[in-house]
Amino acid sequence: MSKFDKYFLMNEKDILEYSKEKLKYFDSKNKITCREIGDGNLNYVYRVKNSKKSVIIKQAGVHTRSNSSGRILDINRNKREAEILTYYGKKFQKLAPKIYHIDETMKLFVMEDLKDCIILRDALIKGKIIPHFSKQITDFIVETTLSTADFFTDAFGKKNEVAKYTNKELCKISEELVFTEPFFNLLKENVFSDCLKKYVEKQFYKNKELQFEAAKLKYEFMNNPQALIHGDLHTGSIFVNDKFIKVMDCEFAFYGPIGYDLGTIIANLIFSYVYHLNMTGKNSAKFLAFIYEAINEILSLFKKKFLNKCGKDIKDISAKNEEFIKYYLDNVLKYSFGICGLEIIRRTTGCARVKEIESVSDEKKRADIEYSLLKIGKECIMQRERLIKVADFTNFVDLAI
Ligand code: ADP
Ligand code: MG
Repeated sequence: MSKFDKYFLMNEKDILEYSKEKLKYFDSKNKITCREIGDGNLNYVYRVKNSKKSVIIKQAGVHTRSNSSGRILDINRNKREAEILTYYGKKFQKLAPKIYHIDETMKLFVMEDLKDCIILRDALIKGKIIPHFSKQITDFIVETTLSTADFFTDAFGKKNEVAKYTNKELCKISEELVFTEPFFNLLKENVFSDCLKKYVEKQFYKNKELQFEAAKLKYEFMNNPQALIHGDLHTGSIFVNDKFIKVMDCEFAFYGPIGYDLGTIIANLIFSYVYHLNMTGKNSAKFLAFIYEAINEILSLFKKKFLNKCGKDIKDISAKNEEFIKYYLDNVLKYSFGICGLEIIRRTTGCARVKEIESVSDEKKRADIEYSLLKIGKECIMQRERLIKVADFTNFVDLAI
């Protein structure tokens, strides 16, 4: 009998005990320590180390960390996340943390400590240019999603996977926070600058036209299991070092529309752009140019890699049709522009905000950032049909500001 034969929510002391009893990773002579380092909303993340090496342990709880929403979450999400990170590692060894151990009883997994990396959002706030970002993120999105789509899998296997990765609770969070709350504020948790109250009221809460478009995007999210998507691919879910990006935190993953990941990442680059435009201005001309190049490059590389992969080994004969692939890609892109808009809006007026807004203490500047973001977000949704033909997306963003 072991203390760890039955699930309970662990603390630092338990994790230490667990590591000594269950992990063969540390030699018993060298003293190990444990510290909770989680900064997310949902899970408990610990660093366990001795003087030579370290690992990260992530455990799921039944509630969110603050439990402010009273949501009950399926703790089996932990195993799904570990399996998907393992899948990412098989596709691209360098682009995801290594998974060492999955414990289905304790709802935890042990992974590589990415201590030589920093969170992409923090790197971008500091104005760091990441030259390898566009290439690696497009490799990642195209390969990890498309490989699981009907093009490349058999129809039975795919449907089994769709069922296995059904992710009711976390999808519900996205359905509410991304698609519903920005337009209806039903949970009464929306926060933004007071001076924007009238604007948000008119342009979002009473804007039937925009709500109609958001409803279309929501129903596609709920009813289009194209491929296994990450589901929360923002710049806080990615670590970076000088050579590689490392994608993590994929517990929102499920079979959904491919454009969701692409749109989320572009939206988060736009946060960085608008932040620097307002906060560091001319001093960051080089950085601002980098962000725009990255966005344009991501869009062009995504298209190229998508067509390239589809040009090679599609299994389904119906899909081996150039016109169909172009039509499919256009829809993915159109969806991603819509999601880009929604992600921008929901992180600007919603409860799950971003550092690029939250860290700004000057109220006027913060309101200016929010206002610019809301205008861009709205345009991305309303103009998404047109955007698939616009050669320069960033020029369009500039016009919207
Ligand atoms: P949540 O699911 O609660 O959002 P995350 O997976 O985002 O949790 O992890 C929360 C934080 O823990 C990250 O922002 C990061 O600081 C740290 N962290 C998570 N995984 C690792 C890792 N493999 N190596 C180093 N730090 C990590
Ligand atoms: Mg997180």
